[in-house]
Parts: sequence; C-alpha cells; structure tokens
Amino acid sequence: MFTTEIEKFIKTNKYSTFSPKAIFFDMDGVLFDSMGSHAIAWVGALKQMGLPFTEEEAYMNEGRTGASTIDEVFVKQHGRSATEEEKQTIYRLKSKLFDAFKHHEKIPYVTELLKKIQAQELEIYVVTGSGQPSLIDSLESKFPGIFNKNKMVTAFDVKIGKPHPEPYLMALKKSGLCPWEAVVIENAPLGVESASKAGIFTIAVNTGPLNSSILLDSGANLVFDNMNELYEKWETFRKNWYAGTNEKRHQKTN
Ligand code: CA
Repeated sequence: MFTTEIEKFIKTNKYSTFSPKAIFFDMDGVLFDSMGSHAIAWVGALKQMGLPFTEEEAYMNEGRTGASTIDEVFVKQHGRSATEEEKQTIYRLKSKLFDAFKHHEKIPYVTELLKKIQAQELEIYVVTGSGQPSLIDSLESKFPGIFNKNKMVTAFDVKIGKPHPEPYLMALKKSGLCPWEAVVIENAPLGVESASKAGIFTIAVNTGPLNSSILLDSGANLVFDNMNELYEKWETFRKNWYAGTNEKRHQKTN
C-alpha cells in the first residue's frame, strides 16, 4: 500500500529518493475544525459590502490570503482589484464575524497524529494562509508542546500565498530541507495545488464538503476521507518511504 503513489511521486518529480524529515501541516481544516466559521464569516462580511459570495466559493478559495480572496471577488464583481482600504474594511469585518465563533474544536485524531509524528522525531511545521491571530495564538494552548513559533509560515510571512507554491517553498527554506524531505498535509484544493507545485508529497484529508476528486485533480498524491484514516495508516505510509530508490539512491546533490 502507498508504494505506487510514492514511486509515481519520485518519478514525476525526477527525484532519487523520498526521505521525509519534516511534516508541514496546513491549519484551517487540518488542525482546527474552523472552515465552517470561515465560510460563514466570508459570506456575511462580503454581503454587508453588497458582494455576492457563497459558502461553496469560500471552500473553493480556502487557503488564499484574505487580501487575495477579496481581490478575486472584486475582479469577478467589479472587474478590478480591491483597494487597500476596501481590503482592510472587509477583512476587519470578516475577522469580527469569525471571532464571534468563540471555540474551534480540533480536528478529531489530529492530536494523536501529531504526537505520533513527534515521537518519530520528525519536525512539525505549520503553513497557513490564515492571518487570524486568534487561531494562530491558540496553536500553542490547544496543542501544548507541539508547535514552535519559529516553525510557522503564516499570512504575515508571505507575499503571494496559496495556490502559488510560495508558502511551501518558504517552509522548505525555513527548515533547510529539499522537497523530497517533506510531506504536506492539506485539506483544500488551493492548498494542495500550492504544495504540489512546490514539489512536495501532498496528502489531502477531506475534512470539508467538497468532492474528493477535486483534491486529486489539484495534485494530491494521496487522499483520505478523514484524519482518523490517515492516523490509522500513517505507519504503513512511513514504512514505504525510500521506496523505489533501493539501488539508485545516491547522495543528494545540493
Ligand atoms: Ca485548509
């Protein structure tokens, strides 16, 4: 199990090995069950500004920075980008509506998965398009001992954001790793696209309402229906690292 996907990944990217040392976690929809609140907040904030937007569009745009989402809506509705002032007004409104949802549960089984990964001495990074301080701050309180502020890439770090590979390339740079030395865990089409374009093995966990085929089409190497399934199969996946490289494996060249 999983050897086919790993071999295909190595071959497609012309790598000589697959030897992960770090796991890059997306935040919304992967660590926190927060996407429903984001969707409602986006629809509400844009509606107050007279801009039509559906919850499904929120899920399809998940992973973009707030500014990029607002620009997308403006281009569609007005044929132009939003001004800085418009972006700030709408994002402030969206954040206010989002913060009204006081508690965000953790995605079931993600703590167990994180602890397993930590015990395997793999590094753990967060790579998110979010700029919601309420969630970013709660990473340390909700997942004590797991995350480190130096191992995060957020909306405050990036210029372009997902679906561009920038955030994941930045995570590679921060970690000093090559793309074949990391695994990404994502839940959204644009996040998967970003990670896949950065050349990293991408696992999609479909925690939202979209069809799983969208995640495969976006470039996911593996798709799971929920975090429990990934947790259960993690060990099998890990045992297959280095697959397809037995004879040909050689020192990395960078
Ligand atoms: Ca996400």
